[in-house]
Amino acid sequence: MNGEGDAPEALDVLAIGAHPDDVELGCGGTVALLAQAGHRVGLLHLTRGEAGTRGTAEERGTEARAAADALGAAAVLYLDCGDGRLRHGTAEEDALIGVLRRHRPELVLGPTPSDRHPDHGRAHRLVADACFYAGLAARRIPDAPDLAPHRPAAFFAYMQHDPFEPSLVVDVTAAWDAKQRALDCYESQIYQGEPEGGAGERDEPKTKVGSRDFRLAMEGRARHFGLMIGATYGEPFWSRLPVAVGDAGTLLGLLPGGVR
Ligand SMILES: [Zn+2]
Repeated sequence: MNGEGDAPEALDVLAIGAHPDDVELGCGGTVALLAQAGHRVGLLHLTRGEAGTRGTAEERGTEARAAADALGAAAVLYLDCGDGRLRHGTAEEDALIGVLRRHRPELVLGPTPSDRHPDHGRAHRLVADACFYAGLAARRIPDAPDLAPHRPAAFFAYMQHDPFEPSLVVDVTAAWDAKQRALDCYESQIYQGEPEGGAGERDEPKTKVGSRDFRLAMEGRARHFGLMIGATYGEPFWSRLPVAVGDAGTLLGLLPGGVR
């Protein structure tokens, strides 16, 4: 269950997905913007996508590495929580608590609370619970009992299949190209354009995520939420708690939005 990868120790942001490509689809633009701004962003895939209809775990691993590079991520980590049967018990909590205490991110981006794919909702529960328990000194984990407690300051959930009323929308227009390059790395999973410029829809087996309609819908959704904030492309996020504004002057920086 130990997280593994080529991670350096400290990360500012940890973006977590149930399957390779979840983070890129849900919040790839935000990840790219944070990396461009100089923050150290790690990607954590809770499974290797071994139960996917298309693509082997090895193939998806190669794609995930290339996608992380396209977004400017500093590290790619994995936990083997079980694709298609994602577990969120004590062992999985311990493993994720270890990652959080080792890398100490202030911001966690993670799966949506409830979704078409049951793994996504289970992954949300795992991430939310581990973020809390990681800050409890009394919760000691067997593999690394000496790691100091650490609770991320914020956990925002990105949108996947099912829509929700967002708590905030990030203008990702400046990172839209980087997000598309990351999605283009997932040749086994995601529609890659018509044959002149890409592979088109793979013949078999058909998947929803691999369809042209899905990729167009992802762009349409980003355009919809962009429109809501006066931008071309937006990524929506949900927060269980209200988003705090510590300095009222920040409100001026939140424009556009509101009435325009
Ligand atoms: Zn997924």
